[in-house]
Amino acid sequence: MSSLFGLPGRLLQFLGTPPAHDIRAPTVDGSVRTLVLAPTVTIRQRFAAAAEALGHDVVTRANTWTARFAVLHRAPEILVVEWPEEPRHQRAVMRFLRSIDIHHCLTLAITDPSRPDDVSEALQAGAGDAIPATATEEAVRTRYEVIKAQIARRTSRARATDELEADYQRLLQATGTETDGVFDWSLEDGTFTADRRLQAILEIEDGREVNHPRIWMDAVHPDDRQHLESVIRATRIGSLPLLEHRFRLRPADDESAEAMVRAQVIRDDDGRAVRIVGRLSRIDDTGHAPFDAITSVLHDPLTRLPNRLVLIDRLKSMIRLAQGPGGHPFAVLFFDLNRFKTVNDGLGHLCGDKLLRAFAERVRCVCRPDDVLARFAGDEFVIVADGVATSRDAAAMASRIHQAMASPFDLEGTEVFVSVSIGIAIWDATYNSPDDLLRDADTAMYRAKSQGRDKTSVFDEAMRRHAVESLELENDLRRAVAWREFRPHYQPIITADGTRIAGFEALARWDHPERGLLAPAQFIRVAEEIGLVIAIDRQIAEEACRQLRAWRGLHRRLEHLTMAVNISSSQFVQPDLVPQIDLILRQSGIYGSSLKVEVTESVLMENAEHAEHMLEQLRKLDIGISIDDFGTGYSSLAYLRRFEIDTLKIDYSFVSRMLFDQESAEIVRTILHLARNLGKESVAEGVETRSQFEALQRLGVDLIQGYYVSPPLPAEGAQALLQLATASSNHLQAILSNRLRSDVRETIDEDIDDLFTEAD
Ligand code: C2E
Ligand code: MG
Ligand code: MG
Repeated sequence: MSSLFGLPGRLLQFLGTPPAHDIRAPTVDGSVRTLVLAPTVTIRQRFAAAAEALGHDVVTRANTWTARFAVLHRAPEILVVEWPEEPRHQRAVMRFLRSIDIHHCLTLAITDPSRPDDVSEALQAGAGDAIPATATEEAVRTRYEVIKAQIARRTSRARATDELEADYQRLLQATGTETDGVFDWSLEDGTFTADRRLQAILEIEDGREVNHPRIWMDAVHPDDRQHLESVIRATRIGSLPLLEHRFRLRPADDESAEAMVRAQVIRDDDGRAVRIVGRLSRIDDTGHAPFDAITSVLHDPLTRLPNRLVLIDRLKSMIRLAQGPGGHPFAVLFFDLNRFKTVNDGLGHLCGDKLLRAFAERVRCVCRPDDVLARFAGDEFVIVADGVATSRDAAAMASRIHQAMASPFDLEGTEVFVSVSIGIAIWDATYNSPDDLLRDADTAMYRAKSQGRDKTSVFDEAMRRHAVESLELENDLRRAVAWREFRPHYQPIITADGTRIAGFEALARWDHPERGLLAPAQFIRVAEEIGLVIAIDRQIAEEACRQLRAWRGLHRRLEHLTMAVNISSSQFVQPDLVPQIDLILRQSGIYGSSLKVEVTESVLMENAEHAEHMLEQLRKLDIGISIDDFGTGYSSLAYLRRFEIDTLKIDYSFVSRMLFDQESAEIVRTILHLARNLGKESVAEGVETRSQFEALQRLGVDLIQGYYVSPPLPAEGAQALLQLATASSNHLQAILSNRLRSDVRETIDEDIDDLFTEAD
């Protein structure tokens, strides 16, 4: 048996297993040896004081280094650890937890409620339970009591069950409130005992027969009964570690009354569920149950779905079941809402929240009672589909989800259509951990996304191979960054009248020792994912600035030459981006006005405030800002005004179609119109033909970039081009006539080759 106070499955399982060796000097009186490890003084003092008030024998430490000695010398039974924010510190705490024998003490992590992920991270690192740093004095004491009760049980496992239960009931009563009642439901004889407070909450008249579970069900809103029953069933068979559920009460005078149940299943020695003991709370006007803070450990407060922790737990038990005799199959469906960010940014976070809630509700309706639907993170959801063994069955389930999205969601009067991309992993004997299944389902989801809206993809051998290749690429990339294997190629950007090369765009190339020269499409995405793109961008920018300085010295006409570099979104959010660029400028000896940074629209829209601040700082250094691939992202006129942007780069996709596709032509015209009216410079990217070039000239574009002028060239090639161009008053003409000559030369060379081949 265990308590109802937020002790997750991990601890429950842990307590169920006898420790490898007995606890040193079992505590008999109240003086439980407690170590509080917390760098924050106030937290340290608060948690220590609460333990002292309960008679614990407390020591406090501010870092893991000194805490290690305290563990050695004092063998604490309770370890209270403040979960740090910084990954570096987290790693230190994890190492510390690994270094101590967890059989000897129960660990309680103090987490920051503003970082909900901390709870699962702490639990994964070995903590048995978590409590928010903001918990009230009383809540902290209660938690200590609960842990103390666990320790007491562990030290004398032979204590009679009745006694433990009395212990347990006492704890329950001690934390009860006006809106909070307890019940005890025997699954053996069906009796249901509720205390007076619970009777009041459920509005059961005095004198009515209360010792039957029906009275509880009767008090539940008819539409919520089936779901509650399925949750109870899942808890009874052990699929869910705790019974924790929020539901509406039967509509009486108050339509919106809601309640929350939180209970524990008690099993006999054979693991058979014999009782359910728990608390039921009416949710107050603010929408909170008295134990909401605790609840959030297992449930996502927004959608009320089980969270990642419960999901992992469920997956673990499904894997065990599947591996057992009779092998029980299952599948994992991983999905998110396409373009959820657009809704969040465009309509505001409240609407975003509302959408997530409504979305979760719709998906829940298509799930079967034994499936678990959990919110994984942000807009990502996972279904563990019970009994699903084939791709066909899994795909059928996915198509029910797609169908559920056929009608729009109503968000404060705005209708929003949502599409989902679904990735599926079907369990097979190679899967031993929840992480592997989730990873593969996630990979399949990305495959589905790349195939368009409303698509489903099942993880298969080809994807596994691809995943392995990505992993190899990742390792390769790490080496390449260390060895500086990246170098820029330079593509000229020319004035629309053709008279002058205005500058170059530096484009990353990877000089791979075995695979030769690789284009960004072959590595930038993975580099972004693993955070290496920042180093790559820096190497490219350093080299490009150094090169610009060298070229400008070549000729008087090149003094105004500019260099454009691409900045990835992850680079753009780095707080030290501007100082770094400043350093590069100084080292290469060029002015900010010669440098342009290219960012995509989404980078600016994703975090407008931060972007505004960054752009302001870049502006102080006189650096130009271009919006790359303009027209393909999500942008608004208001943003264009708000941000100080110099240049709009019209995306290749519009330029390439503008001569035969009315819509693309219209877009190009509109962007140019916009640029002129807002006083921004315009660049057409990907110009490949003379007719495109001339059409753009007529539409009044300022600058042209594309294969028609030149592909990106290695430094020597670009330098030759510059020398050639500066020898003429019209750079474009000089470049084109030279290319013509070299094309003719190549043709003649090929003809001669052919002659010889024929002669052979
Ligand atoms: P982008 O910044 O929009 O660069 C333009 C891309 O269009 C380049 O591809 C260029 O080679 C290609 N291009 C130029 N003219 C033509 C044309 O006439 N026709 C066609 N079909 N394509 C043309 P590339 O070099 O493969 O780069 C692709 C993307 O990779 C870039 O798009 C940019 O987003 C990213 N990238 C390149 N270098 C870097 C870098 O150093 N850092 C970061 N973060 N991203 C980079
Ligand atoms: Mg670019
Ligand atoms: Mg572009």
